[in-house]
Amino acid sequence: MAEFDYDLFVIGAGSGGVRAARIASSYGARVAIAEEFRIGGTCVIRGCVPKKLLVYASRFPDEFEDAKGFGWSVPEPKFDWPALIAAKDKEISRLETAYKATLDRFNVSVFPERAICLSPNEVRLSASGKTVSAKIILIATGGHPNVDRKLPGVEHVITSNDVFHLPTFPRRIVIAGGGYIATEFASIFQGLGSEVTLIYRGAKVLRGFDEDLRDALVSSMQARGIRIINEQVFTKIEKTPLGLTGTITSGEKLDADEILFAIGRSPNSRGLGLETLGVLTDAEGAIVVDNHSQTSVPSIFAVGDVTNRVNLTPVAIREGHAFADSQFGNKPSQVDYATIPTAVFTTPEIGTVGFSEQEARMQYGSIDIYRATFRPMKAILAGRDERMLMKIVVEAKSDRVVGVHVLGPDAAEIVQMAAIAVRMGATKSDFDRTMALHPSAAEELVTLREKWVAPTEAAG
Ligand code: FAD
Ligand code: NDP
Repeated sequence: MAEFDYDLFVIGAGSGGVRAARIASSYGARVAIAEEFRIGGTCVIRGCVPKKLLVYASRFPDEFEDAKGFGWSVPEPKFDWPALIAAKDKEISRLETAYKATLDRFNVSVFPERAICLSPNEVRLSASGKTVSAKIILIATGGHPNVDRKLPGVEHVITSNDVFHLPTFPRRIVIAGGGYIATEFASIFQGLGSEVTLIYRGAKVLRGFDEDLRDALVSSMQARGIRIINEQVFTKIEKTPLGLTGTITSGEKLDADEILFAIGRSPNSRGLGLETLGVLTDAEGAIVVDNHSQTSVPSIFAVGDVTNRVNLTPVAIREGHAFADSQFGNKPSQVDYATIPTAVFTTPEIGTVGFSEQEARMQYGSIDIYRATFRPMKAILAGRDERMLMKIVVEAKSDRVVGVHVLGPDAAEIVQMAAIAVRMGATKSDFDRTMALHPSAAEELVTLREKWVAPTEAAG
C-alpha cells in the first residue's frame, strides 16, 4: 500500500494550483486539489478575465463616436449593465467548466471545500472533516483585497470581489487606490458612463511605472472626465438616503452610489495551520519560499500570490509549472523573474517591459531614450485628440534595449511581442534593422532614430 493517499495535494485551484496539479499528474503523480470557492481562482472568476470583458464593454462608446468620422451614422447607443453582467457570468461559467474538465482529464481528485495543513504531510478538509495525506503539499491560495478595517463606515465599501456583481449600475463611483485595479476600474466605469472620482494617497498614480507613462495616462484620464484627487484618503464613509458619502482628509465630502477600495491585496496565508507547522511567513503574511518554491518545511511548497513575488497570472502559472517539473518531472527548473511584461488595462492602456527610464538610470548610469508621441492614424478621421506614447530605454554602453513602454491602443499586444526582443537582449541596432510594418502604430518602435532629450536638458 502507498505510504500516502496522494503524491501531491494542492490547496487552491487558481492559476498556479491548477497548472501545478495538471503538470504533476501528467508525470504520473497521484494528485488532489481543494478549492473553497470556484475552480479557476481569482484570474478566471473575479480578476483578469471578467475585468478584460468589462474593459471591452467600456470601449464601445469611443467606437460609436469615432465611427461618425468614417461616414457612419450611429443611433443613440443604450447600455444595459445587467445584460453585460449576465453575458460575462456565462463566459466565466464556461471557463470554470473547462478548468474542471481539464482536472478531470488529468485524473486530479477535486475536493470542493476549504483545506488546511494539519501536519507536514496531512491536510484537513473543513466541510467533510476528512484528513488526507500527501508526500508533498502545495499551497496556492492566492490573495484577497485589502480594506482599511479601522475606517468608520468601512462596511459600506466594495472591493474587486463585489464589483463584478453589482445589481445596479453605479452612476457615481469613487475609487480608492492608485494601482492596477483602481486605475483600470476608473477607466471601465468612466467608459460605461459613470461619474468617476479616484482618491490616491500619493502624488501620482501607478507608482513604479515610467514617469512619462504615468504623466500621459493621468492627462488622458483627466481629459476623459475622471477626477483624480491626490494625497488624500478616506476618513469616514456614511450611508445616506441617496447612497454613500465619503469624507476625505481635506474634509471634502464625496457623494457616490458605490465606493470601491482597490488599495492592494494580501496573501491568503492565515488560518491554514502554517504557524504551528513552522512554515515561515514575512511581515505581509507572504509565505517565504526559496527559488524552488519550497517553504521552511521541506514537504510544503507554495506558488503564486500567496508568496507575493510578482502577483500576475502568468507568473503564478510559471511557478506552478516549474514546481511540478522539478518535483515530479525530474526536470529541475526555476522561474526567471527578469523582464516580465505587464499591462494596465486603462483607456488608453499601458504596456510595459523592462526598466523604466528612472530605474535604468539608477541601474546603468548612462542611458539613451528614444521617444515618440503621435496621434494614431485612426484618431485623425475620428477627430479624437488622444496621443500615443512610445518609449525605448537603451543602455548606452552596450546598446541593449532594457525597457519598452507604450501608452495607447493595443499597448498590451505590442509590448507582448517587444518583450521577446528585450528578453533576448536585442540592441537598439537590432530594432533599427527590423523592417517596419506599415501602416501600423508599432512601426514607431523600429523607426525611432533621434535620441530624445528632455526639454529642460535641451534648454540647458
Ligand atoms: P488565485 O488565482 O487567487 O487562486 C487561489 C485559489 O485558492 C482561489 O480560488 C481561492 O478560493 C482558493 N483558496 C484560498 N484558500 C483556500 C483554502 N484554504 N482551501 C481551498 N481553497 C482555497 N493578473 C494578470 O496577470 N493580468 C491581469 O489583467 C490581472 N487582472 C486582475 C484583476 C483583478 C481585479 C484582480 C483581483 C487580479 C488581477 N490579476 C491580474 C492578478 C491575478 O488574478 C493573480 O496574480 C492570480 O490569480 C494569482 O494566481 P494564484 O494561483 O496565486 O491565486
Ligand atoms: P496595487 O499594489 O497595484 O496598488 C495598490 C494601491 O493602493 C497603490 O496605489 C497604493 O499606494 C495604494 N494603497 C496601499 N495601501 C493603501 C492604504 N492603506 N490607503 C490608501 N491607499 C493605499 O494593488 P491593486 O489592489 O490595484 O492590485 C493588486 C495586484 O493585482 C497588483 O499589484 C497586480 O499585481 C495584480 N493586478 C494586475 C493587473 C494587470 O496585470 N493588469 C490588474 C489588476 C491587478 P502606493 O502606490 O502609494 O503604495
